[in-house]
Amino acid sequence: MKEIYLDNNATTRVDDKVLEAMLPFLKDNYANPSSMYDPARTTSCAIEKAREQIADFLGVNDPKTILFTSCGTESANTAIKGVVEKFGNKETKNHIITTRVEHPCVLSVYENLEKKGYKVSYVGVNENGELDIENLISLITPETILVSVMHANNEIGAIYPVYEVASKVKEKNKDIKVFVDGVQAAGKIPIKLQDSEIDFYSISAHKFHAPKGVGALYVKKGTLFEPFMLGGHQENSLRAGTQNTPYIVAMGVAAKLAKDALDYELTEVKRLRDKLEQGILSQLGNAKLNSKASSRVPNTTNIGFEYIEGELILLYLNELGIYASSGSACTSGSLDPSHVLRAQKVPFTSLHGSIRFSLSRFTTEEEIDYAIEKVPEVIKKLAKISPFQKELNELGL
Ligand code: PLP
Repeated sequence: MKEIYLDNNATTRVDDKVLEAMLPFLKDNYANPSSMYDPARTTSCAIEKAREQIADFLGVNDPKTILFTSCGTESANTAIKGVVEKFGNKETKNHIITTRVEHPCVLSVYENLEKKGYKVSYVGVNENGELDIENLISLITPETILVSVMHANNEIGAIYPVYEVASKVKEKNKDIKVFVDGVQAAGKIPIKLQDSEIDFYSISAHKFHAPKGVGALYVKKGTLFEPFMLGGHQENSLRAGTQNTPYIVAMGVAAKLAKDALDYELTEVKRLRDKLEQGILSQLGNAKLNSKASSRVPNTTNIGFEYIEGELILLYLNELGIYASSGSACTSGSLDPSHVLRAQKVPFTSLHGSIRFSLSRFTTEEEIDYAIEKVPEVIKKLAKISPFQKELNELGL
């Protein structure tokens, strides 16, 4: 059976070159990078090289602004909790602004802070999944300590104007900190944090062809926060714990490869994504595009299939070896419709039948052709057993 992996926003396959680069650090170069003897110089130098590669990937000059973490979730938690712990108090500095479409690793931290007495304003998106920046800025109060907006949405691929948000926030009050969840932007669009007003930017290696279990957090020079991983003096005492050398090396190499492949991502991956999108939409009267933002990452499309159950679509596609998803991997298994699609006011007729297809630089034309053939077949098959025969007939199914 063919296997067509179209779930690259959930995770990506490890690039062979990345695997090759990390293997010596799993086997021979195992010294603790904090130790004093020669082999430790090899591992600590490898970590510093990866730090330079990540700095270059994120468009910053100073590698010291990069902290290694265990994943995107840890990076987000470090930034948000670190700011609240350092600058927040429940009386006068207790307000945070974010969006309704953030990833659960960000939203659940805010829900938890609300339980502790903090006030959080959630900014919505329009029907195209776009943000109203003026509205966001108008919510700033003297109590605001943090504004947090993701760079690219994991479900619909919308790109948010984070540089503009950050400079407008600082124009209003330079003490407010700005956190950007960049997990779904890294490797898909160019990133330039140098000279931006963004204080914190999180990334996760397994979204750009390195292994799971390693991430990074950019912290602007001079920006303070309270570290929550306490222990040794690793990472400049900002994130204690022996560094995961092999995975950090892997992330550095993956970042370099991803940066080199950006042009391909923006042209060829986008071409294949557009071909898939048009190929499906043109064959099915009940297919509606959810990824409608004017600016979006090149690899993602989200399509709603009216009157068809999303979980069934995924099961049928799975039988054909096509792997996609109905939203965030962290919320799959939940029957609640996606919070992103609800924020975008996707009509209930396709809310439960929305599927995300996400490509990578390893996706081939042949795979896309196969998906264009099989997805409509599956939808037509499911239309025959749907209780909404009349509505589907009217849509030509
Ligand atoms: N932020 C976004 C936008 C994501 O899509 C994800 C993962 O899907 C994360 C954060 C969490 O990253 P990790 O899986 O490395 O914890």
